[in-house]
Amino acid sequence: MTWDGWLYYLAMARHKDATTPGRSKYARIIRVYDLLLETFGPQHWWPGDSPFEMITGAILTQSAAWTNVEKAIGNLKRASALSPAALRDLPLEELAQLIYPSGYYNAKAAKIKAFVQHLAVYEDDLGRLFATDVPSLRRELLGIHGVGEETADSIILYAAGKPSFVIDAYTRRIFRRLGIAGEADTYGAYRSMFQGHLPADPSLYNEYHALLVKLGKEICQPKPRCGLCPLHGICPAGKENTVAAARMVH
Ligand code: SF4
Repeated sequence: MTWDGWLYYLAMARHKDATTPGRSKYARIIRVYDLLLETFGPQHWWPGDSPFEMITGAILTQSAAWTNVEKAIGNLKRASALSPAALRDLPLEELAQLIYPSGYYNAKAAKIKAFVQHLAVYEDDLGRLFATDVPSLRRELLGIHGVGEETADSIILYAAGKPSFVIDAYTRRIFRRLGIAGEADTYGAYRSMFQGHLPADPSLYNEYHALLVKLGKEICQPKPRCGLCPLHGICPAGKENTVAAARMVH
């Protein structure tokens, strides 16, 4: 979608927001994006210097903080090992040692090995791997050892630059507290919710995900800081927390 098309889409969504009695889920998803963008501004988030580094990062970040992933990536770079061919040649134990800071290093070394073995089929040409449509690419990635849904969607969005919404723990926590998603919603239900209500635009998916990560890290933490939250006015959990805090004061 062009930028003008996206502005038109947002204008229509806001019109719908204002005219629909009992805000629709569609309007609420747009409203969350608007409020986060107004507050935090564009995040310019691009996790890696190259598509292959992004893929490696997407595997290493499983159950790990990004700061530790950066240390592991730094080790791979210093060892001149951050390429598919170098990673295939590296003994498994050496690879595990290099990525030690990211945790679960033996399991992640095996996952990285599985990915670069798969890439050899395409002569290490990511462009050829990514040449297919999103559903086919996603199915193929999910068939590789160690690539789950979040990793597959991160690879599609950040490395391939194609629209596949990434759902992480921050997204689930925020949307459950907002009452927009249910407690038992699956990864697929979340992904369908975003993709069913937003235009298929990779830069929009990237920005929305980055804004949710910022909110989840800094404000909507396990113990939420609702008084600082730009979503407070539309969040039932935030209102409950404020009332409970006021009761404790009186
Ligand atoms: S108001 Fe509180 S619970 Fe709601 S999204 Fe913000 S920080 Fe999270």
